[in-house]
Amino acid sequence: MKNILEETIQTYGIENWGAGFFDVNKKGHLIVRPSEEDVSSVDVVEVVEDLLKRGVKLPVILRFPQLLAHQVRKLTSSFQSSIKEFDYKGNHLCVFPMKVNPRRDVLEEVLREGRRYNFGVEVGSKPELYGALALDQAPESLVVCNGFKDESYIRLALMGLRAGKKLILVIEKVEELHIILRQAKETGIRPNIGIRARLYSRGSGKWEKSGGDTAKFGLTTSEMLEVVRILRENNMIDCLKMLHFHIGSQITDIKRVKNAIKEAARVYCKIREMRIDIEYLNVGGGMGVDYDGSKTSFDSSANYTMQEFANDVIYTIKLVCDEEDAPEPTIITESGRIVAAFHAVIITNIQDEIETVLDDISKVTTKDDDPQVVIELKDLMENVSSKTHREYYHDALEHKEELFTLFNLGLISLEDRAKGEALFWEVCERANRFAQQSKIISEEFEDLKKILSAKYLCNFSVFRCLPDSWAIEQLFPIMPIHKLNSAPSEHATLVDLTCDSDGIIDKFVDLKDIKETLELHHFSPGDPYYLAFFMTGAYQEVMGNFHNLFGTLNEAHVIINREGYLIKKIITGSNLGDVLALARYDKNFLFENFQKHAQEQVKYGRLTEAEAAELCLEYEKNISNYTYLG
Ligand SMILES: *Cc1c(COP(=O)(O)O)cnc(C)c1O
Repeated sequence: MKNILEETIQTYGIENWGAGFFDVNKKGHLIVRPSEEDVSSVDVVEVVEDLLKRGVKLPVILRFPQLLAHQVRKLTSSFQSSIKEFDYKGNHLCVFPMKVNPRRDVLEEVLREGRRYNFGVEVGSKPELYGALALDQAPESLVVCNGFKDESYIRLALMGLRAGKKLILVIEKVEELHIILRQAKETGIRPNIGIRARLYSRGSGKWEKSGGDTAKFGLTTSEMLEVVRILRENNMIDCLKMLHFHIGSQITDIKRVKNAIKEAARVYCKIREMRIDIEYLNVGGGMGVDYDGSKTSFDSSANYTMQEFANDVIYTIKLVCDEEDAPEPTIITESGRIVAAFHAVIITNIQDEIETVLDDISKVTTKDDDPQVVIELKDLMENVSSKTHREYYHDALEHKEELFTLFNLGLISLEDRAKGEALFWEVCERANRFAQQSKIISEEFEDLKKILSAKYLCNFSVFRCLPDSWAIEQLFPIMPIHKLNSAPSEHATLVDLTCDSDGIIDKFVDLKDIKETLELHHFSPGDPYYLAFFMTGAYQEVMGNFHNLFGTLNEAHVIINREGYLIKKIITGSNLGDVLALARYDKNFLFENFQKHAQEQVKYGRLTEAEAAELCLEYEKNISNYTYLG
């Protein structure tokens, strides 16, 4: 017999997706470990209570730098062990793609931990490059410059080169080469150049279109040859250092990786054959995160481990190089998602339950002179049984239609309508209970279960915290951080604070399927109930938007140690003033205009001077409030 704790752990699947970082302790609280091998752990409930005591409001991002550091080590050591195993002659270097999470704290931690492995940075835009040029990194580590470029991007890159960065400009379009040549002449700086190849091979999953011959990025075969010709003409062929490709993020199927690498390695060898000493083969990012823990090629999963990915890259490149008798290149990887996803966990609270159906039918009293439709619904409610549940449910649906028709014709009162609705939902509840007990649950009762599920109002914005849940239906593990030694009794969906019907989470991770409701505990106001959203460290923070002007979250950096934990840093999220400034309401405008309105009331004698002054003072104080509830 399993105990309740074991059963709840299984309900949420934490063992499948937790990657050794996340677990539950005997108290039924979520814990986080710095790595799967580490014995120290932190009780997340303790951290949250500590933060609340310090006045840090929810929602909050808990950032665990040790999880980032662990992924950096795991990534580099996976490649080092493949290099050993296959006796690969070249080296391997990582660059962290800044677009995955450009927060300075994230970059600094990755570069600090990655210093001894010469971990570098990948940028895809001018602002990213500008930021990267200020970061401290190991002298031998790279700055790989991707993305579409203009004069000023390229000039900035050459400045970085002169300032000592090992920087490579990857050409995405032939036109960029002409700009590079012009700028190189003007500044007298010899650039390092890479070319991004447009492979025939594609990735898999949501980002499949990033690869293939209709991709947005990369040079066609004839364009690559043109670049070579132009570089030769300009006596700059020695500047060509890197061949790059990236077939898309979250590649779910390892076969796709192998095919792309095979093709790219062949291209590398053919370029080598042209007596070009290209040094680096950059295989891009794309290593998938197993969000649902199913280890499959499903969109929110990946059917391989980091070690398998590394093995396939190293083995395949070696194989092709051996066949073509080409020297084995230094391999660059640009994995971002797998490095950053785990380290950030968002914690928030359930604010309330949204009632859509009357939950206490005893409040409904019927009389003999009630309309026939109400009496019939009551009869259905009283007599629905295991045998009749389907039939009675269908009858109830018909009666509900009738109820609204009568109401719209003005034949029944609001009270009658209210009674009828309450009875209808009670028939549904009862029929659903019988339906869920049967062996095979038909689609209509699956739908009904979802309709009847609780809606928990959660103190967050989907658009700010989990944009990919809204934009591309990506799944993220979500679970309560406490009460885990009691069995959850409700099936709920989560609605956010925004005035947007898309501001809802109604797809949840499951080992075999996608769950449409999440098992949660009964919510009672006054009894705090905290939820965690996991694996939000990649892409979510930077892609999150300001819908309804909900701002960035409070943030705490937590170090896990033998004694428990240390809160190393607290960063305050946006306040009302910050988000309004983004929409060009500066402080002066806000204060002065509010004052103007108050003064008008004084003029009309509706407020005294003193009252107006007090009102303005309070308005001004509100500017530093957090944008979320509570
Ligand atoms: C986005 C991107 C990456 C990172 O991909 P992940 O899936 O996060 O590893 C790497 N390289 C390039 C060129 C990218 O555009």
